Amino acid sequence: MRKRALVVGLGIAGMAAAIGLRQAGWQPVIVEKAPDRRRGGYFVGLMPEGRQAAADLGIRDHLHTRNPPGGGKAWSLNRHGNLEPGLGFLHQPGDPAAVVRGDIEAALWEGIGAHGAGEPIPVRFATRPVEIDDSGADVRVLLEDTATGAWRRESFDLVVGADGMRSHVRRMVFGPHENHLTGWNAMICAFQLREQVPSFQEADSIISARAGRGAWVFGFADRPPTALLTYRTEDVEAEFTGSRIERLRTAFSDMDDPVVRHALDSLEETPDFLFDSVHQVKMPRWSRGRVVLVGDAAWCLNLYSGMGATFALRGGADLGRELRDHPGDLAAALTAWESRLRPAIVRHQHLARVKQQLFVPSNRPAEAVRSVVVRLACTVRERKLARTRTTEERAA
Ligand SMILES: Cc1cc2nc3c(=O)[nH]c(=O)nc-3n(C[C@H](O)[C@H](O)[C@H](O)COP(=O)(O)OP(=O)(O)OC[C@H]3O[C@@H](n4cnc5c(N)ncnc54)[C@H](O)[C@@H]3O)c2cc1C
Repeated sequence: MRKRALVVGLGIAGMAAAIGLRQAGWQPVIVEKAPDRRRGGYFVGLMPEGRQAAADLGIRDHLHTRNPPGGGKAWSLNRHGNLEPGLGFLHQPGDPAAVVRGDIEAALWEGIGAHGAGEPIPVRFATRPVEIDDSGADVRVLLEDTATGAWRRESFDLVVGADGMRSHVRRMVFGPHENHLTGWNAMICAFQLREQVPSFQEADSIISARAGRGAWVFGFADRPPTALLTYRTEDVEAEFTGSRIERLRTAFSDMDDPVVRHALDSLEETPDFLFDSVHQVKMPRWSRGRVVLVGDAAWCLNLYSGMGATFALRGGADLGRELRDHPGDLAAALTAWESRLRPAIVRHQHLARVKQQLFVPSNRPAEAVRSVVVRLACTVRERKLARTRTTEERAA
């Protein structure tokens, strides 16, 4: 009989893990607390490891990417209001694929459904685990259907907690959030702009970063840009009180530039935005008995790292591979999976601190250093592009 797995969370990590499990011959079922799919969303740059994981999961052909030609133009707006060539997310090594979160979600949805390689994976919306009891021989889970209020107990061979940064599976099985969530004293707000910032090209990316605050506009080839406003704060709790837009207007009050103005005005009109505090998840071990965590639930790298979606895909694909390679030995499969993945996760958790300075410099000296670094990187990039053009002209 095929082994059954409960996957908690219909995000990138959950769907990737479910497809990985199916590839390993398991029978996964996904439960999602929301009543429906979460589509659309913010800019995500998918790195080569993530694209390879998408290929391994058989969803690469379903993935719609939106890179402007040549990575598009990026602009930096400095504190004197001057515009300079900038360095966009898409200009970093590895040629990230430009997508919105919903593009990855949609590709995975195809993969778990009728167009995937294998039988469709059942998804139960408005459902969440209430109790998880690992007996050693199986895991008994009490599931609540939040639409009807009905409760039902089921038995699984494995529970995969893919329920995000504030994971309930983690809290129930591994302990309270305080033990695993590290605070970064920073906030983010991500949303779709109604239109590009006036006087810029549709696919342009624009960055306006000052000490403690950063406004980013991410341009795409075929849809309006998305915006990210991020700022540092000493009191995260206070940021969740009162109106979100007022909080943001206060944080950006002395940055009266066209990017910030346009983003804040757009935000007032959109019902759909993400406003949250920034954290990382750090755990000494991602599995206990027959319960394993993946994605943000296990190792949230946070948005500054720019690797969360990439590793959510990689983690799910690799979990399937290790289960396939260790049939009948769950403990060995989980140990092998974690030891392969953990060094890269730890490296990117450290790197995120450095990258945070690019998104939102911590103070005036950091802002100045950031400007110099970006200018140097732009010069290097320009020279490289010029050399490539010359070589191509000669060859022609
Ligand atoms: C603004 C922003 C920009 C980003 N940019 C990038 C980028 O450029 N590149 C990149 O690689 N990554 C990026 N990331 C990170 C990336 O989006 C995340 O790491 C990734 O989407 C995490 O996926 P996940 O499936 O682990 O978690 P989530 O997306 O949080 O999914 C968890 C799911 O579990 C469900 N759930 C929660 N609790 C329960 C419960 N009790 N029962 C049932 N279901 C539950 C939730 O409703 C949700 O559907 C960015 C993130 C943000 C916020």
